[in-house]
Amino acid sequence: MGWSEMANNGGLSICVFCGASAGDSPVYTQVGYELGKRLAAGNHRLVYGAGGIGVMGAVARGVADNNGSIVGIIPEFLRDREKNDAIPSQKVVVTEDLARRKSIMMDLSDGFVCLPGGYGTLDELLEVISMKAMGIEDRPVVLVNTQGFWESFVELVDGFAGRRFLPEEKPFVIVGSALEAIEYIESPARARLVATME
Ligand code: AMP
Repeated sequence: MGWSEMANNGGLSICVFCGASAGDSPVYTQVGYELGKRLAAGNHRLVYGAGGIGVMGAVARGVADNNGSIVGIIPEFLRDREKNDAIPSQKVVVTEDLARRKSIMMDLSDGFVCLPGGYGTLDELLEVISMKAMGIEDRPVVLVNTQGFWESFVELVDGFAGRRFLPEEKPFVIVGSALEAIEYIESPARARLVATME
């Protein structure tokens, strides 16, 4: 049985990595909110960094406004700066540092969705995909390509692969919408749960 089934009446626990900033277009937070709304509609639990600002806050608001379930993990030193109090319905787990936050987020989740963000988002994304590339991680990782945001990242990865420092096969997929991201995470995770139960 997966984490999600224990925690969420059959839904999944989906970790979202994304920016504490809003970016230069309202579309980033709009897609964040849409993702949150769809997570709640699918009975999935949001696992994220607990912040109430930027794209992070938009995702959490989308879940909270639609009566979804949220667990937010945040180091003590970031609680004021990233305003976890702005999302009162979430269950907050306070950690000593960023590394512990990241490991708890990963432990709790059935899959990972990445929206636009900055260094923190990249750090979290690279942690998961580097483990997938090493073969010690197999949960789905989906990047939502809002306004072509991830194209420069894909170019970087393709460049490294062209020089034979990375495998040709990417340890993540890119999709165009929040809905596609959730559908992608749902399909392999559900197949795995069924396989385990047989
Ligand atoms: P950002 O994508 O930079 O806006 O950050 C998204 C989230 O990642 C925020 O909650 C940041 O506090 C967090 N973050 C920033 N740097 C790191 C890091 N080195 N390791 C883990 N999380 C980080």
